[in-house]
Amino acid sequence: MSESKQAAEVGKSNPLIGLDLERLEGEMLAYHQWLDERADDAYRIAEQARQLGLDHKDRVEIPRASDLAGRTEKLLIEHLEGYEVADDIRALLDEHDRETTSIIIAQSVARGFREQGYDLEKSIDVGLRVGLAVLTEAVLVAPLEGISEVRLLNNMDGSQFVSVHFAGPIRAAGGTAQALAVLIADMIRRELNIGHYQPTDPEVERVKEEFGLYRGNLQYRPSPDEIDEIVRACPVMVNGESTERIECAGYGNVRNIDEARIRGGVLLVIGEGMCLKAPKIQKHTERLNLPGWEFITKFASRGKESESTDKAAFKSQQITPITKFMRDIIAGRPVFGGPLQPGGFRLRYGRARPSGLAAASTNTASMLALDDFITIGTQMKIERPGKACAITPCDESEGPWVVLEDGRFLRIDDPAAYAMLRNRVKQVWDNGELVIGYGEFMENNKRLVPAGYTMDWWASDMVDSLSTEDDVSFFLETFGFARDAWPNATPGIPPEECDDPNAQFWVRTEWHEHLRQLSMTWPQALACSRRFATSLPPPHNPWFKDLPLEWLPSVFQLLENAVIEAAPTETDAPEGARPLASERHLRLPSGARGWSAKMMDELQPEVLPDPDSSTLPGPSFTMEQPIMTSELAEGWALQQHGLAKGAMMLLGLPHHHDGDDIVVTAGWESFLEAFGYASDGEAPLRQKNASKVATDRLNALRKAKLVLDEERARKGELEKERATIRIAAETGARQRGLGIAETDRVGRDAAASVPDVGPSDPAAYLAAQRLEDEHAIDGIMVIVRQLSDLRWEHSAPVRVGCRMGRPEKAAPRVMNPMTHSLFPIELNGGNQRLLNHAIDKRTIRVQLGRRTCTVCERESPYLRCHHRALDAHGETKAGETCNGRTQARETKSNAYRRGEVQSVRMDEMVEDARIRLGIDRLPAQVKCTKKLNSRDQTPEAIEKGILRARHQLPVFRDGTVRYDMSDVPITHFRPREIGVPWKTLHGLGYTHDYRGR
Ligand SMILES: [Zn+2]
Repeated sequence: MSESKQAAEVGKSNPLIGLDLERLEGEMLAYHQWLDERADDAYRIAEQARQLGLDHKDRVEIPRASDLAGRTEKLLIEHLEGYEVADDIRALLDEHDRETTSIIIAQSVARGFREQGYDLEKSIDVGLRVGLAVLTEAVLVAPLEGISEVRLLNNMDGSQFVSVHFAGPIRAAGGTAQALAVLIADMIRRELNIGHYQPTDPEVERVKEEFGLYRGNLQYRPSPDEIDEIVRACPVMVNGESTERIECAGYGNVRNIDEARIRGGVLLVIGEGMCLKAPKIQKHTERLNLPGWEFITKFASRGKESESTDKAAFKSQQITPITKFMRDIIAGRPVFGGPLQPGGFRLRYGRARPSGLAAASTNTASMLALDDFITIGTQMKIERPGKACAITPCDESEGPWVVLEDGRFLRIDDPAAYAMLRNRVKQVWDNGELVIGYGEFMENNKRLVPAGYTMDWWASDMVDSLSTEDDVSFFLETFGFARDAWPNATPGIPPEECDDPNAQFWVRTEWHEHLRQLSMTWPQALACSRRFATSLPPPHNPWFKDLPLEWLPSVFQLLENAVIEAAPTETDAPEGARPLASERHLRLPSGARGWSAKMMDELQPEVLPDPDSSTLPGPSFTMEQPIMTSELAEGWALQQHGLAKGAMMLLGLPHHHDGDDIVVTAGWESFLEAFGYASDGEAPLRQKNASKVATDRLNALRKAKLVLDEERARKGELEKERATIRIAAETGARQRGLGIAETDRVGRDAAASVPDVGPSDPAAYLAAQRLEDEHAIDGIMVIVRQLSDLRWEHSAPVRVGCRMGRPEKAAPRVMNPMTHSLFPIELNGGNQRLLNHAIDKRTIRVQLGRRTCTVCERESPYLRCHHRALDAHGETKAGETCNGRTQARETKSNAYRRGEVQSVRMDEMVEDARIRLGIDRLPAQVKCTKKLNSRDQTPEAIEKGILRARHQLPVFRDGTVRYDMSDVPITHFRPREIGVPWKTLHGLGYTHDYRGR
């Protein structure tokens, strides 16, 4: 990157300020070098071991290459047969982007193979694989296993065309690479002068049938019309292996298609690839001016049309709930919060020290509150931004809000305190905060959603505001701090405006660290808000969005009888109760009358009783009728806890019961301020007519609802009318014998013949939509902002719905049952499949591939000939075998597995191996497999199993020893936290702390 460009991108707030770049870059370089050298060592040893020829391959199969070009060459080593592509790819990548490179290199490789005399199929096959490898960065199996083969088939007129057979693993390549693979195949076809595909009707109908029958997951299912268009127009045939059990009944036996069963790869490539990624293909077909791909333009512009015609239409600003994470729920893995639902985790932006990519953090007390279902490393499926995240702890985030048996409502941030209380917790009301880095949103290409006004946000506001010594003095006086307890500089000046930006950066960081740890009283929060226009941070920031507007008039009535009193000198609040209590409390008389903890044992009924007709806990009241919904919002909380307690819980105001009364211990002053009540007297003092404002708002919304209902009813009628006409037209078309696509079109045309006249009063409808939207986004905050002069930001605007994914995992990857050796012994090892039992039987019969020794020409099922060598006297000796390399014998069998049942002298074979290993005794438990599932059924050397058993290592079915770990690195730590003396750390290269000192 050039320097000017870098400066332009960094812009106003330079993220590099405060970093010792020179030293850090040097460290990074040295570290990478160190990693490279160690990896080189490991590869060297592995190569030497492989060259002994004791394994299937005499080289290391996992390619090690420094760049994409090198990786491609190594990944496809068996397909390329020595043909070199790395340099060409490198040269192309210097000039073009990756997608363009993939097309050019694919053509060039195919041409090259053809020139070297390979047949057309092989040339296309290799070219396509190279192209696909470049697209997928050569790190996935897709280029190897995603394409099973390429065939040249014939059209009805006898001309040749290319058929690409996709297999299941093509899914790994992703939609873009799937789509471009088809384009690449076409480009190669043109290069090699092969005709284009001209499908017959049954071949087209077959694909439609497969889409209809397929039960698997697809991001997009094209309509029969779309399938028709794609299959007919696509110049190469998208073909594939059968992957599903389901067979096509209508078009099972079709020309050019091998089997009747569904071909999963075809559906993926057409649905997720060509349909969804049409714009990607279009970009290249237009650039290359490629004939035959005009059809893709239609798919590429799909969706855009409807947007442009609806320009004047209303656009909602609401954050939409995402339900995807709720799919495929598994019994025993609980859901911790519905989409955007209160009670679920509150979103907070940030990043805890122990967290990696796709990780999020919660308070450890939250983990306990969720019954230990989540712990460090557990994977959670989340609503946004991505699909899943690994969980790590963060002690700065807020813990769970819970209701105790005695009705006390509080938050616990300290895991030890939570453990003490655990048996008294009756209900977890709110999970606490979920800390997600904003980069996760960027990585997932998702828009940022608002987070609550937390201490971070308040601290940032304060850091910016404290720009003079005068400001600083005001702050220190308000909180009663001495000047020398705080960093000795004014944080408000931006680093860029200072002589030493780096120093100023750290001044601000230090201030921020101190500020966000503050816990402040109401007068302090208020003073800062008045002077610096900060919003109110927790605990003076109730969850206004959660309290339904319908509740509000009744809540105001509650305040009529409320009393403000001094807090008692002694508190019976449990250890660790948060937030800390104010000096004065708000008492709601009879607020908890008739309340019982037993109510929380009951499950929410399908239909809630009418709040006015049932006897609810607390004082009686009249509830407003629901505005936008048929059922009262938060009606279940009302049934369980009554109006007073329910409202305090919805707002997140800590309280306990005193007899029948509810005593609110913190945050209530802010609640009073928000609705125009003074909180400094003996009782809430009404200064503004909050009831009227609330009633006006209710009435406005009810009016809007009428307008919305009218228009929605009209639209519903229109749809019904259109559906009737459409069905009639389609029935007629079918009776006339028209095809699926035509029937569809006739139906659509008929439906469109009924005109849409639009809403009766478009302006009123638009206004109603806007009001509905504002209500959904801000709720009663609209009223708060109207009544109070202070700045108010939402405290919990977005909850992140989530459920448990899979448990945390740091364990060897084992086969089930655990195995040491990939050597088949059928049932000769007993239940435990023990090698020693098989040896006791001396000779066993198992299915193995047939191989011949290249030295003595005798048969041996192993990679190295097992026959004992004869010495000068014609005698054999244990431990001395022919050991010649063997080769697989041709077989006439058509079975997938090529092995035959053979007799194996286990005792001699294992004895020879033991002597070769130079060990006295076999391990007691060497666990083998019952049979080999590979095609050739050639067992690995028994020595490997003996060695693994000796070191207690399990083997995975591909012959590797693997260890799975949840990927959550700790990026910052203190020596004492990990129990390592700092001198040791210094020796490991930790020479500076996080501040570079
Ligand atoms: Zn031999």
